[in-house]
Amino acid sequence: MATESRHIEDIISGIRESTYEIQTESRLAYSGLKREQDIAGVLERYAWLYNAETVRRAEEAYHAEGDPGDKERLRRVYHYLLEGYVDRRTAPLEDDLVTFEAGATVEVDGETIPYHNVPVLIAGEHDFERRERLQEAALAVVVEGNPSRLEVLRVRLGALANEFGYESYTTYNAERKRIDYGLLRSRMDGFLVRTEEVYAALMGRWVKETTGRGLGEIGSHHFAYVSRLPQYDEYFRKDRLVVAYGRTLLGLGLDPASQKNIHIDAEERPTKNPRARCYAPDPPGEVHLLIKPVGGLEDYMAFFHEAGHAQHFGNEDPALDYVERAVSTSYALTEIYSFLLQHLARSPAWLTAVVGLPEETAREVAYHAGLAELFLVRRYAAKLGYELDFFEDPFEEERNRGLYAATLSRATRFLYAPQNYLNDMDPGYYSADYLRAWITESMLRHHLEQTYGEDWFAHPEAGGFLRGLWASGERDENEDVARTIGYEPFDTTHLVGQFIDLG
Ligand SMILES: [Zn+2]
Repeated sequence: MATESRHIEDIISGIRESTYEIQTESRLAYSGLKREQDIAGVLERYAWLYNAETVRRAEEAYHAEGDPGDKERLRRVYHYLLEGYVDRRTAPLEDDLVTFEAGATVEVDGETIPYHNVPVLIAGEHDFERRERLQEAALAVVVEGNPSRLEVLRVRLGALANEFGYESYTTYNAERKRIDYGLLRSRMDGFLVRTEEVYAALMGRWVKETTGRGLGEIGSHHFAYVSRLPQYDEYFRKDRLVVAYGRTLLGLGLDPASQKNIHIDAEERPTKNPRARCYAPDPPGEVHLLIKPVGGLEDYMAFFHEAGHAQHFGNEDPALDYVERAVSTSYALTEIYSFLLQHLARSPAWLTAVVGLPEETAREVAYHAGLAELFLVRRYAAKLGYELDFFEDPFEEERNRGLYAATLSRATRFLYAPQNYLNDMDPGYYSADYLRAWITESMLRHHLEQTYGEDWFAHPEAGGFLRGLWASGERDENEDVARTIGYEPFDTTHLVGQFIDLG
């Protein structure tokens, strides 16, 4: 017993060290400080940890443990190792796919364009037909990568089924993430029904205004153009972004200057990914918030999303056990806090007080940000339904292509290309993590508004309350937060209500 528990502590130290290295490797590549990302290399250095034998030892220790607290700790360790082991098997394939996409180009109107630039070009392109040509060219690259994506899935599902007895990917994730997917799906189906009318009316109007066409007639790639909102760019200047962040924190009684553990990297580097991102290689001691500001509403929202993660991880209680600080059950908890800060862009009060918008403009921006989000929630509700059906029969390609296009198109009324049926899917039912966070965030925001007012972000007491939640790190589940503030888990009333109010 003493040797076995010694072994478990060695395993946890290994998780801590390897996680630090993986996160750092990813951050250096993402921020343009390193040319190529080599996660597979890091995982190979930890082959003693991420191998079938170690996973089985952790599994046995987990099943043998009687104390509920220790059992939960071992449960997380077991699943973390198992994921790491499967990742080690798929990492070379996935690294190749990343390299392939990074080097891929498309030919449009006689011009050679990097594949990764296509979405940005589509969002800013006024010519409808050229947006179509850009999309068509990008889809050819997607199709080229699909055999590799299927191979990754084959390896992943094969390892889980043949080596660990998880025949169903859905059952596996339900156990790992402690979630009833059937319940969540039925709640989200209800959400889709209840928001259908307001969505069709308001989105129909927005699409008509921006493209001159009807909702239901155009491809999903046009949404980026519809929701781009360049008329508000002057208010969301790139050189004011970090200032708005500082003001927001000060309003909540959090002093950004004293948060020495949260490193902001806003430097311009040629190969830095412009999309904001948060890394927490060892929370709360070391957290990074990355941004290459380009300006605009979307840039602000993406940055505040990541800032929400950074505040959560950076304010964790350092006295917590490592597993409770860093080995989460799912992403559903931390996404509550990223959504909370991201959704400040839906608050006219915040847009006027912190960003400095005129009142009328603030109302317009908040409205459009809300409508764009309704699109997203409906899209993710459809993604969850599609993914659950997909994993019933993952290698039935014809069926799944059709299922993807039909399910996503029905919920959003934009036409989805069947070619994206693998590309548009994150592993581990991340869609469900997001949906759980959307539900609970709507409750948390409602609670903050009821307790501190519409301008809760300007109340240090609200900041103190949030710090209290953040201090518990990854210990609790998303639904525990709902219960803590007096709401019923998976109740979509507030989520529905905030969108109905748009009408
Ligand atoms: Zn996030």
